[in-house]
Amino acid sequence: MAPIKLAIVGVGKIVRDQHLPAIAGNGDFALVATASRHGTVDGVPAFKSIEDMLAAMPEIEAVSLCMPPQFRYEAALTALNAGKHVFMEKPPGATISEVEDLKRIAAAQGVSLFASWHSRYAPAVEAAKDFLAASPMKSLFINWKEDVRHWHPGQAWIWEPGGLGVFDPGINALSILTHILPKPVFITEAELEFPENRAAPIAASMRFSNADKPDVSAEFDWRQTGPQSWDIEAETEAGKMRLADGGGKLFIDGALAFEGPIMEYPNLYARFAEIVTAGVSDCDIAPLTHVADAFMLGRRKIVDAFHD
Ligand code: NAP
Repeated sequence: MAPIKLAIVGVGKIVRDQHLPAIAGNGDFALVATASRHGTVDGVPAFKSIEDMLAAMPEIEAVSLCMPPQFRYEAALTALNAGKHVFMEKPPGATISEVEDLKRIAAAQGVSLFASWHSRYAPAVEAAKDFLAASPMKSLFINWKEDVRHWHPGQAWIWEPGGLGVFDPGINALSILTHILPKPVFITEAELEFPENRAAPIAASMRFSNADKPDVSAEFDWRQTGPQSWDIEAETEAGKMRLADGGGKLFIDGALAFEGPIMEYPNLYARFAEIVTAGVSDCDIAPLTHVADAFMLGRRKIVDAFHD
């Protein structure tokens, strides 16, 4: 099969860090163009807008949308209306209903829509899912704490409405949670800490439940200096599980049970090729639904101003 002619929209940090090497390593895709107001990729035709790009290069078959979530819907709509397959960076949108709208349009157009959740493709996530499927769970705690100044320097959009604040990394934990739990949970209480000068939270704590009344909770914090934490710990009847390093390693009762090479973005592009070939979409909004519920149910606490 000839490679799928792919374009990238929104050339920024994640494109340079992850998309370009993953695409270069996947023979199912050929990067033929970019659309970005400032960013370009050496040797690849560059346009300032998705509209100009699609008009000039109708041969483009698929686009990867890598701009911040608040600006993704209009780009996705343009691409879907032009009959292109669409890969969306996480989170897939700024609201749930706009993503539902895109799902409907993709189905009507007969093209594939992919809500990519890169953390689900971390090496030890499937092993954690298998462990929880076989081991009745008593409790689970998500500890997701990082230094925003290190990971998101100067990213103004992330503090704006729809930028999600600490839920931008936290949704990665929720994408793992919603994948590995044998039964879904829902938020029963939450507290969101908003810096007095920002429109998005810097920290959040949540409790979850379902009909089985499991003890499930999460803490997200962007004020973590020193060691960073991207851990999910569960007490089960078969022992204590720790999914560490953002899904990179699985420990059972303190002993390393599984680790593997980091292939999150190569695996995302492999999945995108798979759904395009199969003529289906893969657009799960469960992680975004938890974020929306946290904003809907959460108690708001105003904390010290944050300055980059
Ligand atoms: P970024 O570098 O700040 O933004 C990506 C690009 O989007 C910008 O360089 C900008 O390019 C374009 N853009 C288009 N409209 C924009 C607007 N109105 N305001 C700001 N930028 C706009 O962000 P990023 O870190 O790559 O993140 C992009 C997406 O990837 C987010 O949804 C994020 O959650 C996700 N992601 C990021 C990481 C990470 O480590 N950074 C990891 C996984 C996923 P032009 O100025 O050239 O248009």
